[in-house]
Amino acid sequence: MREIVIVGGGIAGAAAAWFLHQAGRTDLTVTILEGSPRIGGKLATAELAGIPVDTGAEAMLNRRPEAVDLARAVGLGDALRHPATTSASVWTRGGLRPLPAGTVMGIPADESAVADGGILGPDSIARIGAEPDEPGPPLSGDVAIGKYVERRLGREIVDLLLEPLLGGVYAGHADELSLEATVPQLAAQLRSDPSLVRAAARAKAAAPTSDAPVFAGLDGGVGRLVPAVAEASGAVVRTDTTVRALARNATGWELLTGPTRAPATVRADAVVLACPARPASRLLETVAPGAAADLAEIEYASMATIALAYPVQQDSAVPADLAGSGFLVPPVERRSIKAATYSSRKWGWLAERAPGLLIVRASIGRHREEADLQRSDEELVAAARDDLAAATGIAGEPVDTLVQRWGGALPQYAVGHRARVERIRAGVAAQPGLAVAGAAYDGLGIPACVASARSAATQVLAALPAAGTMTI
Ligand SMILES: Cc1cc2nc3c(=O)[nH]c(=O)nc-3n(C[C@H](O)[C@H](O)[C@H](O)COP(=O)(O)OP(=O)(O)OC[C@H]3O[C@@H](n4cnc5c(N)ncnc54)[C@H](O)[C@@H]3O)c2cc1C
Repeated sequence: MREIVIVGGGIAGAAAAWFLHQAGRTDLTVTILEGSPRIGGKLATAELAGIPVDTGAEAMLNRRPEAVDLARAVGLGDALRHPATTSASVWTRGGLRPLPAGTVMGIPADESAVADGGILGPDSIARIGAEPDEPGPPLSGDVAIGKYVERRLGREIVDLLLEPLLGGVYAGHADELSLEATVPQLAAQLRSDPSLVRAAARAKAAAPTSDAPVFAGLDGGVGRLVPAVAEASGAVVRTDTTVRALARNATGWELLTGPTRAPATVRADAVVLACPARPASRLLETVAPGAAADLAEIEYASMATIALAYPVQQDSAVPADLAGSGFLVPPVERRSIKAATYSSRKWGWLAERAPGLLIVRASIGRHREEADLQRSDEELVAAARDDLAAATGIAGEPVDTLVQRWGGALPQYAVGHRARVERIRAGVAAQPGLAVAGAAYDGLGIPACVASARSAATQVLAALPAAGTMTI
């Protein structure tokens, strides 16, 4: 038997195990080594007022096939659900204002998309109208998305649209995140034509028209996905097993696990590193030092989610006119929360399980603002409640609250990220039987993690040829 070891039991690790299983090879055994007591990584469901709520990822992009296909393949097809509403607001200028639809990360295809929304002032709207005729150098190399957008469209659109949208995905800063990595659909256009507005119009026109809902979730929580995938993969799962070192030997790989006083060695013919960049960097230090150095440069934002269950019967505690699925908060507003989701309005399955309750989930924390998370759970709950009350009027005493802190939650795709990932992949590919997968590389959404897992599985299978190998 050949042994493949996967380091990390998040969605990327579990999906890698699934794709290895799909290859139909009877000569392989697959083991997932997970450092924490549970598999799932950033997918996790916990109880709030006796109801399961997602404390990490809560939605999968449905317009990319990878995540929903995987959910179906492992028997969760019947549990797939779509949001009842996805329209969101921006909390700015003293109120909740509709987030314009049909922009690309806040960049409109023309000024009419933002003209009446009340988020941008007349100068910004006029600038959007004039921008296609503005001369300027096309994009060369990579730049910070915020800097490029500010140069072409002004600071206001960066502060009030781009920042809150990037905050929702990366918990990062527009002036540091890579244009190339965060809006690849615009970057390609900008290399020959500097206009952002025209690039957004072209990206919209090129996007396949589809009536399919944009997002999907799971009845009972997206946190169900990883355990289901791991189980369907047939892999051996070992939790509480942190891998501390990786070395090559004459026949394959050795992984060092266990506490320093009682180390244990796991042998493998091939290894998939499906852990975040920092542990991946440490493990690659001697095996692929160049890739390790590049991985060490990928920074992470930490954040917390705060879920609150408010009784709706209580007089006037919950306003009846909450619009859409929630709101985003521009950092310039200097509030504590960066976003809030009216979870039981967004997800019908949650509303059914929580009659008489409004479940809201707020998030706090951006890249390099870890001090915001050094407060007690009670203080985070109080900050979320204050902001929710000020933005929406939701008041009263929650019947239950749940704080989940995510240290090293979201990788920051800084300027030059794509080139860095190319170098990492080249360094890893030079070591047959080794592959990397996960949020650090080509996208941090669940479908992108699944896609990276599939590539990693293909890569390690290629290093372990067997008669009758099926392609996956
Ligand atoms: C609060 C929050 C909300 C999000 N919302 C969404 C959303 O709605 N939709 C969406 O698509 N994405 C969302 N994301 C992003 C997405 O959830 C993550 O990018 C994705 O789940 C990462 O998966 P992964 O397998 O790459 O890494 P992880 O989930 O981080 O899993 C890696 C695993 O490796 C383990 N590990 C680390 N080091 C070692 C070691 N040395 N030995 C053994 N094990 C190790 C860790 O314990 C962890 O379990 C969200 C993320 C967060 C934090």
